[in-house]
Amino acid sequence: MCGIVGYVGFREAYPIIIKGLKRLEYRGYDSSGIALLDNGSIKLSKTKGKVVDLENRAKDEISLNGTLGIGHTRWATHGEPNDVNSHPHISNSGDLVIIHNGIIENYAPLKKELINRGYTFVSDTDTEVLINLIEDVKKNDGLKLGKAVRVALTQVVGAYAIAVFDKNKPNEIVAARMGSPLAIGVGEDDKEFFIASDASPFIEYTNNAIYLEDEEIAVIRKGKKIKIRKISDDSIVDPYIQELQLNLEQIEKDGYDHFMLKEIFEQPNAITDTYRGRMLVNEGIIRMAGIDDNLERFLNADRIIIVACGTSWHAGLVAEYVFEELSRIPVEVEYASEFRYRNPIITEKDVVIAISQSGETADTRAAIQLAKSKGAFVFGVCNVVGSTIARESDAGAYTHAGPEIGVASTKAFTTQITVLTLIALKLAKAKGAISNSDYHMHLRELELIPEKVKECLTLDNHIKEIAVVYKDMPNFLYLGRGFNFPVALEGALKLKEISYIHAEGYPAAEMKHGPIALIDEQMPVVIIATKKGHYDKVVSNIQEIKSRKGKIIAIVNNGDVSVREIADYVIEVPETLELLSPLLTTIPLQLLSYHIAVMRECNVDQPRNLAKSVTVE
Ligand code: GLU
Repeated sequence: MCGIVGYVGFREAYPIIIKGLKRLEYRGYDSSGIALLDNGSIKLSKTKGKVVDLENRAKDEISLNGTLGIGHTRWATHGEPNDVNSHPHISNSGDLVIIHNGIIENYAPLKKELINRGYTFVSDTDTEVLINLIEDVKKNDGLKLGKAVRVALTQVVGAYAIAVFDKNKPNEIVAARMGSPLAIGVGEDDKEFFIASDASPFIEYTNNAIYLEDEEIAVIRKGKKIKIRKISDDSIVDPYIQELQLNLEQIEKDGYDHFMLKEIFEQPNAITDTYRGRMLVNEGIIRMAGIDDNLERFLNADRIIIVACGTSWHAGLVAEYVFEELSRIPVEVEYASEFRYRNPIITEKDVVIAISQSGETADTRAAIQLAKSKGAFVFGVCNVVGSTIARESDAGAYTHAGPEIGVASTKAFTTQITVLTLIALKLAKAKGAISNSDYHMHLRELELIPEKVKECLTLDNHIKEIAVVYKDMPNFLYLGRGFNFPVALEGALKLKEISYIHAEGYPAAEMKHGPIALIDEQMPVVIIATKKGHYDKVVSNIQEIKSRKGKIIAIVNNGDVSVREIADYVIEVPETLELLSPLLTTIPLQLLSYHIAVMRECNVDQPRNLAKSVTVE
């Protein structure tokens, strides 16, 4: 994970790098650092803590001048988050500087070898090993920086996005990628270049970007055309410069206190953007190129296997119910991290759907590589356009949710469900598994969802009142049935992630097989009890909880009477089709966890120990 930023050009590098690191802080935030090249000398400042701590420290510690620099915000993998382990790292000679996102898996034997050759190390990181390996190769083989980095990387096993500079080369940065994302912003007439984990640090300077592919290394020199080569065989690659659609407003908070809240409130628009141009309600058409072009593959599939992690896995579970209900295709949902390491039975007749907001999730990438190697057809559902999973899939559909910066995923979840529902409906129609009238009814109902989400968002103040009452409870239980069982899992995950309260999600009917033992007056139970989802059974579950003095917060439909009589609090959401109800019931759960976390003074957008784009295994 972690975020990296670099600049070489005609402007002062410091403010660009600091601002860029703040935008990338969602990727990692346990420590950060910066190195500037100022008249041939390296100015280095690094610290445990957030980028703002770095800012405070750097201004007292170093001169902030220089038109070349690199910066890093870390999510530690090797070595605890402290000042010394923070990046950038400097080679033994003091000439070479590196920032690194990823893991060098064979760092231990490499380190041993370097120690035998007289190198010393000050940090516990794998990264410091890499910069000394580069130095060793450069010195021994008399190579220029770009060549030395390439040769060193051929000896490395693992994942990386790196940027390296040499204090004796004032206008040059070398960047390379294997497994971790890396974008290069190209300024006008090649007068300046930006390097970053995503395009957000440079979007106000240039719309032109090159996304390095795995195994590529770029030599970036001010005033010169970028040179890209393959790491393995040194062959030349033609740089592909693309024009970005991103704009600055999309990555700012827009008056909200937190990105998470902004993103929760963006959901009506995000869901509309997801189906816009794809779902033509009056014509009764769903147009999705990734499906249209591969329809036979889907229709002839023995089964669909969904691979994902975290919140995306929950969206996959909802999709399992939706696909089986509508399209009558068997579906299995797998944690990508488990799937990739067992020996799953996959055939050429399987379709694998990989879901990942960032499109960079390491385990999901590995899962699709495994599936492809067995001949399965891989379909990616990603949010970030041009991301690795989007590129590596055989076909795919973007969620078009816009940048999601809050670490706790919200709009990514609802837009993933929207895209997957569109696919399920399209396949149902093509297979003749749904009647015409049902099909049209589903399209009409889906079109109404954004307005209904808006209605759910008006519950914000009511949910805040509930949050005040329960914010200090040590545990929460979340229950739901059918389509809303995955919503219960997602509600519990949201609370855990950002408020650090222990929470579990369970199918409501499973409660009596264990979790009921936990229920007492200290246990709030959030239960989804909307009308169409086995309502009477859920009401019985609520009675069982009440009899054991549990506190009940129930998500019900507008006008509900029965649950209101027994629950401590009800939160009313509009009615919709049962299979679309997760798009509504999930909204109050997002808001509840948000408000509880704010009241507990937790860092909502950057919860401890987490990072957004999980590019390590
Ligand atoms: N493995 C490196 C470290 O622990 C980089 C981790 C990251 O991607 O932030 O310092």
